[in-house]
Amino acid sequence: MTASSGSAPARVAIPLRKPAEPNPSGEFDPLRRAVLDWAPEGWRELPWRRTRDPWAVLVSELMLQQTQVARVVPHWHEFMARWPTPASCAVEAPAEVVRAWAGLGYNRRALNVHRSAVAIVERHGGEMPSDLAALLALPGIGPYTARAVLAFAFGRDVGVLDTNAGRVVARAAAGRSLGRAEAQRLADALVPPGRGWAWNQAVLDLGATVCTARLPACRRCPLEMTCRWRCQGGPDPAIGSAGSSGRQSAFEGSDRQGRGRLLDALRAGSVEAVALAAVCGWPGELERAAGVAAGLVDDGFARLAGGRLELI
Ligand code: SF4
Repeated sequence: MTASSGSAPARVAIPLRKPAEPNPSGEFDPLRRAVLDWAPEGWRELPWRRTRDPWAVLVSELMLQQTQVARVVPHWHEFMARWPTPASCAVEAPAEVVRAWAGLGYNRRALNVHRSAVAIVERHGGEMPSDLAALLALPGIGPYTARAVLAFAFGRDVGVLDTNAGRVVARAAAGRSLGRAEAQRLADALVPPGRGWAWNQAVLDLGATVCTARLPACRRCPLEMTCRWRCQGGPDPAIGSAGSSGRQSAFEGSDRQGRGRLLDALRAGSVEAVALAAVCGWPGELERAAGVAAGLVDDGFARLAGGRLELI
């Protein structure tokens, strides 16, 4: 889950420690053991961890991308109560899902949930697919989300690699920056056989709550004695490593802000074309507002009818 730790990577000075003695049964065994032992006490209580329903897991993962856990929890409960299966979501108008997404931001995800529901019904008879290729073929489903469904719903031993997990893998296991493919390979190789669910939950939580970008809390980290970066020192391996996020452009005054305002207005009802600039918050900037409206039409959110913009 992409529960953001919220900050761009930065150089962090951490004190060195003596490496742990290698375990004769395997290079990563101390690391695996430490993570799995930490998991039951260390991780957060989250409602989607109590289900293995792949649809519920998919919805949670899409909601968690770019949105904080506390905001996702009530939305997830409401969504699952209203649309407990892909089929129940697929028969809805996309506009209903976009309205239900209010408050989560990044509304494209709402359309992707609906489009995925339709695809699951059309291609898989309403049953969530359980293989990577079929999951990746669903609209808007990327490698992270597909693997999260495999691990958290189907219990597969795949590495779930988001920004937080990528930071842990680079710092604790590799001790150096990693390219995308090698980070995924290492993440997959680290999963203890048969423990894919628990392992990935723990690694994602470690990255989100302990091994954060700016201030890793090494003294309360279960990997303190085995972490390569902690033991070796040097520049932060997470900087520039696969999955590390860059700084996002300012939201205030951006087209994203105007688009969000327009979508909020459309959730309540249609908007006259002549009112678009005012609704976007840019009185007088008619061309800019028209461009944002055209983007919503192109993306499948809305249509123009009778001189008014409305959700589809
Ligand atoms: Fe991150 Fe833990 Fe390593 Fe510190 S000891 S850098 S918190 S993995």
